[in-house]
Amino acid sequence: MSRLVVVSNRVADPRKAVAAGGLAVALGAALSATGGLWFGWSGTVVEGGAPGEGELHVQQAGSVTLATVDLCAEDHAGYYLGYSNGVLWPVFHYRLDLARFDAGFINAYRRVNQLFARKLMTELRPDDIIWVHDYHLIPLAAELRAMGCANRIGFFLHIPLPPQLVLAAIPQHEWLMRALFAYDLVGFQAEADLLHFSRYVQAEAGAVDLGEHRFRAFDRTLRAGAFPIGIDVDEFAALTHAKEGVDMYERMKEEYSRRKLLLGVERLDYSKGLPQRLRAFKTLLQKYPGNLGSATLIQIASPSREDMGTYTDLLQELESLCGAINGDFGELDWMPVRYIHRNVARRRLPGLYRVARVALVTPLRDGMNLVAKEFIAAQDPADPGVLVLSRFAGAAEQLKQALLVNPYDIDGTADTIQQALQMPLSERQQRHQKLLENIRTQDVHWWRKLFLDALSEGGKA
Ligand code: ADP
Repeated sequence: MSRLVVVSNRVADPRKAVAAGGLAVALGAALSATGGLWFGWSGTVVEGGAPGEGELHVQQAGSVTLATVDLCAEDHAGYYLGYSNGVLWPVFHYRLDLARFDAGFINAYRRVNQLFARKLMTELRPDDIIWVHDYHLIPLAAELRAMGCANRIGFFLHIPLPPQLVLAAIPQHEWLMRALFAYDLVGFQAEADLLHFSRYVQAEAGAVDLGEHRFRAFDRTLRAGAFPIGIDVDEFAALTHAKEGVDMYERMKEEYSRRKLLLGVERLDYSKGLPQRLRAFKTLLQKYPGNLGSATLIQIASPSREDMGTYTDLLQELESLCGAINGDFGELDWMPVRYIHRNVARRRLPGLYRVARVALVTPLRDGMNLVAKEFIAAQDPADPGVLVLSRFAGAAEQLKQALLVNPYDIDGTADTIQQALQMPLSERQQRHQKLLENIRTQDVHWWRKLFLDALSEGGKA
């Protein structure tokens, strides 16, 4: 069995996976099975360091080797804050208006990918299978190939791929998409992303469609596919029944016994549709006054990428929206919105999900959205809550029994939230059962196996 090498921007110690989440658990399990290597950025930024240089740290975590590289401040600014999160993140989430096409970013992005490739080459064995993750590392395989790497290499994009004409707004779009052809397998979250890829490569790169999602261009053949990521349902169920999950559930149940609880949980990000959600909640209170004094929205938005200006603007907008709703509708004994701009320990989340009558997962665009799946996993099947899900989340392709909404349609979203609040028990149970079946069948282990089987069997160009 070949050794698995996982490459991602951040590396998690599989022994501390509970803190890091389902993906770390799943990749950690896959790495442990073959005795693997996990490679990425160390998280350390070296002030005054030389661009394109960084020390490699190798340490053993059980059967998994963790290899991480430091970045100098200039590279971190251009590669991470600049190109990855200032260009690729907004454009891939269809937000051309928020992209910062600064000419300097691309050099740092390329330099860091070259640095990673150089350091990784020293650790590779000839029969390693390499699995690269996400938008920070699109050109990594091309850099590895240029250094003579002939291993099988797969790429998985965790975020959406936009339509051809949105993608084409990136000045370096041709270079980026050409770089994908250095991979043997390219995976997306959803069929919609795959379709965008197929259209782009045929229209812009003159790729030939060889059938079965194989494409030939630039003298290479790659296979593409949709591999929707799942969660570790068993791990999440165990967390739900563990002490901290149960404590949280009981405390919240008592606190909100007279209220109907709605819940939103995410990183504070403009892709998550938070202002639209708050406006929909406000419309719910105006349009359906039966909810006054009762419906309470707990919105957790953990700090994220705070050193970027667009996030500061969003933070201010949210604070003012929440303040206005509480000011206009609140009573001495009832606050309609509880807005929490902090991280919640992962162990406590399942208890919170379980106590919610309705989850609001309404991103404007999202690669998958794992919160939607975690919410389903944490419910009591005898008395489950209702998932209100944006049709623009990748998860909507799978979770058909959720109540799907267009988050831009504030009025329509408010009506659907009301439908969720009013839904009879039998319908809630039926919908939940189907949703649970789906996330159980297509869990994170299924996803990992599907991708790795495709990479090792049919992925070779
Ligand atoms: P994204 O990757 O864009 O942040 P996902 O919904 O796919 O969105 O994944 C988010 C993950 O982070 C989930 O596992 C979720 O439990 C966790 N998470 C999100 N928000 C918070 C929060 N405020 N506190 C703790 N964990 C969070």
